[in-house]
Amino acid sequence: MKAIVLERFGEKPRPVDVEEPGDKSGWIKLRVVRSALCYRDLLTYKGAFPRAKLPLILGHEFTGEVVRDYPEYGFSKGDRVLTLPYTFCGRCEYCLTGRENLCRSREWYGEHLPGSHTEYILVRPESLVKIDGEMDPNYASIASCVIGMIINGIDNAGGIEEGDRVLVTGASGGVGIHALQIAKAYGAETIAVTRSEEKIKFIEEAEPDHIILSDGEFSKEVKKLGGVDMVIETVGEPTFNQSLRSLKWGGKIVVIGNVNVKPVDLQLGLIILRQNSIHGTLSSTRKTLYKAIQLYRLGKVKAIGQEMDLTDFEKALEKMEAGESRGRIFLKP
Ligand SMILES: [Zn+2]
Ligand SMILES: [Zn+2]
Repeated sequence: MKAIVLERFGEKPRPVDVEEPGDKSGWIKLRVVRSALCYRDLLTYKGAFPRAKLPLILGHEFTGEVVRDYPEYGFSKGDRVLTLPYTFCGRCEYCLTGRENLCRSREWYGEHLPGSHTEYILVRPESLVKIDGEMDPNYASIASCVIGMIINGIDNAGGIEEGDRVLVTGASGGVGIHALQIAKAYGAETIAVTRSEEKIKFIEEAEPDHIILSDGEFSKEVKKLGGVDMVIETVGEPTFNQSLRSLKWGGKIVVIGNVNVKPVDLQLGLIILRQNSIHGTLSSTRKTLYKAIQLYRLGKVKAIGQEMDLTDFEKALEKMEAGESRGRIFLKP
């Protein structure tokens, strides 16, 4: 079968032929239906996750079809499923308190385990959720890493109240375009920030209430609108301080993006004297994955992006690296 394999850090992953996985006790074999391209794939190939096991099939955002009956786990041939991007132990303090995303025995697909940028994959049953075959496979592939992750970040920051004003940086990106929809679904007045004029039309698909075009000091524009209760920061270091300055007093930043893995300068006065807070978020949990499925069922959030063939992976990666992708790139094996 074809798979996108990373041989060495710093070297671009590419499509190669690999052996199809066989049956393995405790695991379920899926035919991959869709596998989305994540910025994490790019960081992985550049060596940001040195514990990744090479050679490695990349990919952790996926949906698939069960290839045979597994009566011991309640799955049948042809079932459509989506999954968390990792496995977890189910017994540690984190797992027992609904935070399996923090499980210390966690293993990620596309990092410690073979990933989904291929035709077949083995997955653990406890990370799987059976879905209605009618669900858009693009949405199903990003229900966890993207939709569930954004919901996890919002929940960690105490949630969004109806009427809150929420700013999303990197609004045309795979995370940003979905964060705008989720914030709106929770009743927020939404503001999108983007650097590039030609992306505005695309961002309008997520129906933000305001779009700010800026490659620098967008906080001034945000202040004219009254400041925001929350920023969903999908870029990281380049926009972080402007995001902080865009907050109302008592505001919250949900940090999701980390494009250049550089440290940020942080003026503590802006945190202490204004009671602002910064919230990290790591992936999704089963609970936020469930919420992601509910938002889809209610028609509140849809997958936005572009489909490409898995064999065009190199082109897809170049697009993402050059900042030319719009929304998520959904790879079709
Ligand atoms: Zn991801
Ligand atoms: Zn655990």
